[in-house]
Amino acid sequence: TTLAEPAEDLLARRARLLGPSYRLFYDAPVHLVRGERVWLWDADGNRYLDMYNNVPCVGHCHPRVVEALSRAAATLNTHTRYLHEGVLALAETLLATMPREIGNVMFTCTGSEANDLAIRVAKSATGGTGVIVTSNAYHGVTETIAGMSPSLGAGVPLGAGVYTVPAPPADRDGVDVAETFADGVRAALARMAQDGVRPAALLVDDIFSSDGVFFDPPGFLAPAVEAVRAAGGIYIADEVQPGFGRTGVMWGFTQHGLVPDLITMGKPMGNGHPIAAMAARPALLEAFGRQARYFNTFGGNTVSTAVAKTVLDVIADERLAENAAVQGAYLRQGLKRLAQRHALLGDIRGAGLFLGLEIVSDRATHAPAAAETKLIVNGLRNRGVLIGSAGPQANVLKVRPPLPLRQEEADFFLSALDETLAAVS
Ligand code: PMP
Repeated sequence: TTLAEPAEDLLARRARLLGPSYRLFYDAPVHLVRGERVWLWDADGNRYLDMYNNVPCVGHCHPRVVEALSRAAATLNTHTRYLHEGVLALAETLLATMPREIGNVMFTCTGSEANDLAIRVAKSATGGTGVIVTSNAYHGVTETIAGMSPSLGAGVPLGAGVYTVPAPPADRDGVDVAETFADGVRAALARMAQDGVRPAALLVDDIFSSDGVFFDPPGFLAPAVEAVRAAGGIYIADEVQPGFGRTGVMWGFTQHGLVPDLITMGKPMGNGHPIAAMAARPALLEAFGRQARYFNTFGGNTVSTAVAKTVLDVIADERLAENAAVQGAYLRQGLKRLAQRHALLGDIRGAGLFLGLEIVSDRATHAPAAAETKLIVNGLRNRGVLIGSAGPQANVLKVRPPLPLRQEEADFFLSALDETLAAVS
């Protein structure tokens, strides 16, 4: 006989079952039950505009993705040690979106695994062990990659051979973003040389999301990458956040006018289904391929690859990168109008449907208004808009809706933000 479990609400059950490491969004957590395109519904039937979730890039529960997933799952689910056309069709379609120097792709299940693999490849190709990341970077959950993710805080120490550099500065009058960032990278290379560490890689998120969203001016990453390459290291472009059309073009590195050595991707790749990848210049894989067999049981399976192929097809067929550019420009105009009335709004950064809105207590000094940012995030939630924040002071609102966002939905967000800013200031 079993005793009936005492009545517990979801919060208590969560804490009891999942333990202490998980965090929920919002002072009043949201209990979601359904999603469609840019909208989410909670258990009470309330509707929310999803302005945050960069994973369902073609929209929540896109019918073509659901259909591809269902059909593939009902046909065959197996791995990369058998011949199958699906993984090759995905590889071809994906590589066709990239510069021609990028000729190989390897599949994983998460962005963390893709970065972990990229670091192994970088070490084997360069013979170095030093890795440069930005001071509030996030790259993932494995022990190696958590050690390259200083945004996890002091409780997670940096790994051996990991050197941090300041994030790029904001693109304001009189600031040379490219040289300032490159100075930091050159200083890190000098510290490595002093320590007798050979460089393996510069690992950066091409839009510096967790550092607070820094994407301008075009080309600013080039001198830093040049310095790393001159010292024998490679450039790993972490496209987990900017990739798949979000910035108005397919890949974030395009903004920097660079062809990366390795490219990692994940989140939007399967529109919520766990598939991720690392793409590479083929020569870089030679040493790794000789040293190590790579088999990832679920990475590149027949179902996940069917999903990811369909996501790429939908992005192209529905011209979603173009929509991101158009709606992103529309949002920016609206935000500039709001900034005339709300002193809390500072910089508006980013591109396409990946915007960082800086919340400041003083526009002249850009003093972060962290407490107000929290009120804004919760105030928007209470007005039916889901959003989050980033940056070392957590004072940058991250705007990353699914890419099929429409103008009337951008307006819904702008008016909810207008009301919230009025209530908070
Ligand atoms: N890189 C970046 C820039 C990320 O934002 C994330 C996830 N937030 C990752 C890597 C890790 O991806 P995943 O959670 O799929 O392991």
